[in-house]
Amino acid sequence: MKRLIRNLGLLLTLVAVSVMVTACGSQSLASKNVLKTDQQSKTVTWGVKADTRLFGLLDTKDGKIKGFEIDLAKALTKQMLGKNAKAKFIQVTSSTRIPMLKNGNIDAIMATMTPSPERRKQVSFSDQYFLAGQSLLVKKGSSIKNVKDLNEQKATVLGVVGSDSVQNVAKVAPNAKVLQLTDYAQAMTALKSGQGQALTTDNGILYGMSIQNPGYEVTKGSFVSEPYGIAINKNQTQFRLAVNQALKQVRASGEYNKILHKWFHNVKGFDYEEAAKE
Ligand code: GLU
Repeated sequence: MKRLIRNLGLLLTLVAVSVMVTACGSQSLASKNVLKTDQQSKTVTWGVKADTRLFGLLDTKDGKIKGFEIDLAKALTKQMLGKNAKAKFIQVTSSTRIPMLKNGNIDAIMATMTPSPERRKQVSFSDQYFLAGQSLLVKKGSSIKNVKDLNEQKATVLGVVGSDSVQNVAKVAPNAKVLQLTDYAQAMTALKSGQGQALTTDNGILYGMSIQNPGYEVTKGSFVSEPYGIAINKNQTQFRLAVNQALKQVRASGEYNKILHKWFHNVKGFDYEEAAKE
């Protein structure tokens, strides 16, 4: 009888421990099959930008995040899990996106993210869904017309922490001073207040800023190619393959082009057909 009570006590302890372990995310993430879990909940949780016009921007009127990446994420979710499936959006910045994916707060990152060799060491990427290129945003009439001017004039260039744009510009224009802000909204405010002579990131993002700030323009051409991929945790191969399959299907059905056109056809000077290249 005593032994039975002791065994029962041990069993209860084991149950309590396993409940605690399941409750704290990291352990469950390692064993979690994201595709299966999402199929059961009929939901994909995406990490998206909320400060980036055209890609992912919070509309303060209705509290919804809107943009090309949001519409594409919704289309991929339905393609993968069925018509009634839901895409859930969680805001990330260039510096929070990888930690949030690794912690299991999100299933995937669709946030203007380029699969650099450094990042590939930490996470996996889907096939390319957008081809951007790094450029500069300057005040109209600025003496900075390209990255060479930036270097020669030893100008201050603004960027965002966690973006590869800040590393790229430091390589291409080593004489320029790079000032890093937390997100793109802050970087734009810094440019307007004269803390730097140029802002650097991908052309699509810069065009979004210039629409909102007509006194500023994107300089011609790009100096680094910046393709975008969806980042997924390394152990989630099934989910990554499902994302790639869905991406192929939305491209083939014409839905991808519809979304691309919706967000970029009015953006003067931006060759969005080039961006659609696979
Ligand atoms: N494509 C670049 C990157 O992945 C810049 C855009 C961003 O900051 O998200 O870092």
